[in-house]
Amino acid sequence: NHLPSPSELQALVNDTYHQFRDLPGGENASYIPYLASVPSELAALVVVTADGDVYQAGDSDFGFAIESISKVVTLALLMEDVGSETVREKIGAEPTGLPFNSVLALCEHQDKPLSPLVNAGAMASVSLLKADNPEQRWQRILDMQRRITAGNVTLSEEINQSEQTTNFHNRGIAWLLYAAGNCFCDPMEACEVYTRQCSTLVTCKDLAVLAATFANKGVNPVSGERVMSRDNVAPLLAEMTMEGLYDYSGDWAFEVGLPGKSGVGGGLLAVAPGKCGIATFSPPLDESGNSVRGQRMIAEVAKALNLNIYR
Ligand code: GLN
Repeated sequence: NHLPSPSELQALVNDTYHQFRDLPGGENASYIPYLASVPSELAALVVVTADGDVYQAGDSDFGFAIESISKVVTLALLMEDVGSETVREKIGAEPTGLPFNSVLALCEHQDKPLSPLVNAGAMASVSLLKADNPEQRWQRILDMQRRITAGNVTLSEEINQSEQTTNFHNRGIAWLLYAAGNCFCDPMEACEVYTRQCSTLVTCKDLAVLAATFANKGVNPVSGERVMSRDNVAPLLAEMTMEGLYDYSGDWAFEVGLPGKSGVGGGLLAVAPGKCGIATFSPPLDESGNSVRGQRMIAEVAKALNLNIYR
């Protein structure tokens, strides 16, 4: 798949990690109490090829909150449940140009939330999953997080407690969704399950395997399991291109040229179709909610490996 030799790739991962691990700037998310307490100096960079080879540097086995990166996993599951066209019709495939937790998009576009990768659309996605009860809705999401990472993903009771007791803004969004006819289960169930899906612990390596699964057309290259149909990968990557880094997604496409997804826990991933997944972890975020060091590390790897899909 036109990647350099294993020793060259490992050297690139090491060098890039060392070059950017101390980059100044940004701050931990503070609106969720737990996230403010994670040591800011932790950092990791992992590349997993579409063949399942792993190259890692730094704190790649440290468990941190998945946060918004959970949105792409739930989206993959939802596309399996209802098909990508129904997702587009009921939720959308447009950038919002607004912060991830904005209520403005909901007020001005009452017909639908525009993207499954902002909080409103992510809660709508949770509500549209096939499930008979809240527990089943949650278990299906957790199971997908485990299968797509081939990792031992678990719910952190501490993070979940921290989020469930402070998520008033998201509860407001869920009620607005419901009022507009865009929530397909009880709105507080959608918000509660969404909050849990954000509160699982993942490692940087887990995220790189997740990204590599999309790079490998829906087959997890580490476990060998097909976790989503091949046809759903392209529309999923299109959604990531449009909104994966929120209101910075256009600049990210311009600079890096890879579908990506960030989380306020400090995780970031990018997908080079047919080649590899790249993931980083570093808690300090910029104003859009994207990891400062992570963005630089992924941009560097993408440039060195000539991964820009528009080139
Ligand atoms: N749980 C967080 C929230 O809904 C996730 C946000 C994010 O990672 N951007 O506010």
